[in-house]
Amino acid sequence: MPFVCVIGSSNTDMVIKADKLPAPGETVIGGSFLMNPGGKGANQAVAAARLGLPGPGADPLVAPTSVLFVANVGNDVFGRQALQQFEREGIQGDFITTDADEPSGVALIGVDSRGENCIMVASGANARLGEQQVAVALASLTNPEEIVVLLQLETPIPTVAYAIRQSHQRGMRVVLNPAPAQPLDPAVLACLYAITPNETEAELLTGIRVVDEESARQAAQTLHQAGVPNVVITLGARGAFVSNASEAGTLVAAPPVTAVDTTAAGDCFNGALAVALAEGCSLTDAVAFACKAASISVTRMGAQASLPYRHEVDSLPL
Ligand code: ADP
Repeated sequence: MPFVCVIGSSNTDMVIKADKLPAPGETVIGGSFLMNPGGKGANQAVAAARLGLPGPGADPLVAPTSVLFVANVGNDVFGRQALQQFEREGIQGDFITTDADEPSGVALIGVDSRGENCIMVASGANARLGEQQVAVALASLTNPEEIVVLLQLETPIPTVAYAIRQSHQRGMRVVLNPAPAQPLDPAVLACLYAITPNETEAELLTGIRVVDEESARQAAQTLHQAGVPNVVITLGARGAFVSNASEAGTLVAAPPVTAVDTTAAGDCFNGALAVALAEGCSLTDAVAFACKAASISVTRMGAQASLPYRHEVDSLPL
């Protein structure tokens, strides 16, 4: 049975759209208000759950992928809503804890008429996701060769590093989406199966400005030299550059679409990649699947609302 274990953040995004963003000390009366479930970890878990559930007409030999989410929410209305949402999506939440002291993670997002935004995040319970919680979750897992562990950097870095080392030691494949961009301990990089930065994150990790296929290849080489066997650099509308340590690497093109909102494109990509790897696809085929899934997500508004289901991806041409 393919299995994806996502370890990461859960937030509630509160979005106010207005003509302009406020300067310090200024109050702007906004137009509309939206409240959406978010957080990179939660978005990626939802993407994996929707994409791991083969739809009608799917290959009967492909078993559904189970998705386990390890996270920490607050003992408040946002935390309870998030737990209900995970259950609706069919995500296993046995190792999501409710923190007695810290509130659920919240992101306050202002968007102006030109689409510019400014975001403030209160990590709350996400900042208390600890090693003990991860240890208990990982200890519950059997058949490590079938498991892909997917992590991001919105929870405490020592916990992320611990999760990577433990998962690697147990023989699971670990995919790290190094977002939001921040420096990483080189010892941790050597425990990864794959890393999936976007252009900005790749530049922060390697010092190489990624602007095209050639610079992506150079950045990937630098990450290989740091010990990461597989590198996938997402390149927005161009698709993704995929590379392993022994080959030159190749660009997988994104299907051409009319993008209306790229929020959570990277999260969709990572959830899809993890599912395809857990199903046994080669890295290049998994990246092609992830590009197809993410291309659907950018044609729709919202974060989790834009994430596609498996039958939608399967019905796209090869
Ligand atoms: P992030 O959202 O993390 O910054 P990217 O912008 O690189 O990441 O997007 C992630 C993936 O989403 C890309 O590799 C691509 O497959 C897909 N994608 C993003 N923008 C578009 C687009 N305009 N058209 C088609 N696919 C897109």
